[in-house]
Amino acid sequence: MQHTHELELELGEVTVTRIEEMHGPLMPADQFFPDLPEHAWQEHQEMLVPDHLGSDDTVVHVAIQTWLLRSEGRTILVDTGVGNDKTRPAVAAWDHLRLDYLGNLARAGVQPEDVDLVVNTHLHADHIGWNTRLTDGAWVPTFPNATYLMPKADFEFWNPANNPNIAGGVNENAFEDSIAPVHATGQVQLWEEGHTIDGNLRLEAAPGHTPGSSVVKLNSGNDRALFAGDLMHTPLQVMHPDHSSCFCLDPAQARSSRRRLLGWAADTNALVLPAHFSGHSALEVENKGSGFAIKTWAPITRY
Ligand SMILES: [Zn+2]
Repeated sequence: MQHTHELELELGEVTVTRIEEMHGPLMPADQFFPDLPEHAWQEHQEMLVPDHLGSDDTVVHVAIQTWLLRSEGRTILVDTGVGNDKTRPAVAAWDHLRLDYLGNLARAGVQPEDVDLVVNTHLHADHIGWNTRLTDGAWVPTFPNATYLMPKADFEFWNPANNPNIAGGVNENAFEDSIAPVHATGQVQLWEEGHTIDGNLRLEAAPGHTPGSSVVKLNSGNDRALFAGDLMHTPLQVMHPDHSSCFCLDPAQARSSRRRLLGWAADTNALVLPAHFSGHSALEVENKGSGFAIKTWAPITRY
């Protein structure tokens, strides 16, 4: 078992801990990133294999994880994974999971009632799952004392009443089982454009992947960090920032958000912590040519 301290970083006055839900192969590179040419994967194979790409196939590996932040005395979770017991007909790997996510959280010293704030960077099914859990046949908030911050644009977009195309997609059932129950208890706070969490942390809109996609910027002491949500899904997008995943609803807008925020991270020496990078999970980037390069990986234990 991994030791908690190897999963933890101090960034200014904020303690950051990686909480795993799962990691492993997800889908073939040419499906995941339809316009990213095969030679790009080959060119960076040494960096990508085995953490981010299969060693003897072309399947992209990802993690699904939460960034646990302790800031100004509060306990904050950034994204909540897929969740247990959820019916996800479109994604077999997410259907009716029974994973020890809450055990991983407990090993980091956090019980569900300790969580003050949940940040859903966007409302895809793999970022809202542990918002709720199944108790006596009903979906109830996993974190009874938390406020759940959600982007208003996504809350409206993913509401099945507004978007009849959800049936059959990756978000089928997700609004009903992971958003509506926390909305019903009055725990949801919707925000637009930007939202200051505290003196260290601020939410900023980063649309494209979904209409309400967002990032959390950390600015504490001399440290800067970007909790990047789904701004990127593979470190190859650092070198190829113009390429979006097949899950990005507006690829051109996603590209523009990616370039803007990677530029900010490069210019300010910010640590970038995406939701889905396996291996060391977080990295620093630098400007290079018309794109970016990986400067260094975070000292977090590899999966
Ligand atoms: Zn995601």
